[in-house]
Amino acid sequence: MNDPGLRIDPLTGAYVVVTPWRQHRPSLTEGSCAFCPGGLEAPEPYDVRCIPNRWPGLPDGRHEVILHSPDHNASFPALGEHGSARVVELWSGRTAALGSRTDVGYVFVFENRGRAIGATVDHPHSQVMAFGQIPPVPGAELSNSACVLCTDPDDGLVVTGRSGWRASVPWAPSWPYEMLISPQAHVGDLPAAGPGLRAGLAAMLVDTVSRVERLFGPDAPYMLWIHQRPATGGDWPAAHVHAHLAPVLRAPGRLRHLAAAELGAGAFFDSVDPHDAAAQLREGLSAYRSARVGQAAARPLSAVWSARVGQAAARPLSGPGPPG
Ligand SMILES: [Zn+2]
Ligand SMILES: [Zn+2]
Ligand SMILES: [Zn+2]
Repeated sequence: MNDPGLRIDPLTGAYVVVTPWRQHRPSLTEGSCAFCPGGLEAPEPYDVRCIPNRWPGLPDGRHEVILHSPDHNASFPALGEHGSARVVELWSGRTAALGSRTDVGYVFVFENRGRAIGATVDHPHSQVMAFGQIPPVPGAELSNSACVLCTDPDDGLVVTGRSGWRASVPWAPSWPYEMLISPQAHVGDLPAAGPGLRAGLAAMLVDTVSRVERLFGPDAPYMLWIHQRPATGGDWPAAHVHAHLAPVLRAPGRLRHLAAAELGAGAFFDSVDPHDAAAQLREGLSAYRSARVGQAAARPLSAVWSARVGQAAARPLSGPGPPG
């Protein structure tokens, strides 16, 4: 069930999918938007829409693009809980549909927002990749014999909680202001979560992205990805659906680079104390929200993200775990 193009580096064990046809995909950040209604990829009106990726990283319809809204500037905070819930529902539907295929072992939902992290289209969108087998990072999480996310985090690391979900800064974050967003109930994947809990995730995305925007500005570039139960069948006791929201800045206007230590040694160095990051993210949102009302978006960042970000999340090192 290997993916065509998938190579395992014999030296390091790293997963590399060789996709030469993606090398010349255009940057669509200038000119008319292909994802706006009437554009190249979305000729008809829509609320949310799923389309095949024109430059897929995986073949056979296993790399899709999810358009969040016809509004070119609709971040999760701008979409609100109702609009964001439509996106989460589509993620769930595509997880179920792609996960039912015999050539799919793992459905990976993610968003790269902002040119600083390499997004080639500004219009709000996420992506779904249906891997033939379980990729290394979720594989490492799933190799735990019990569920880590069913243990309450240190109170000082919790950022917010609502609608059956909580967001906390990880005990050992790879990104300084990373948040781990998980339901309090042990639920394996988005389809199993049901519409109520999925709406709770939408509310949490509005909340947590607002916190990131308050710290780093309305254009704050971030990565968002969801870990959930593999599509291989079988028992996965450690599978507890969750999202990682990772701003790619370490301070306003300052990119957090992944470089030699992270990529060469597999060791992440976090220059912000996780308790301090959680305290900053916890601060109230009401002033930010009222200032945001009526604002249109958003200047692009001029910074260029130069690290091989897709390679960054190497297999976790063994080492000290969280207290208690
Ligand atoms: Zn657009
Ligand atoms: Zn759990
Ligand atoms: Zn995870």
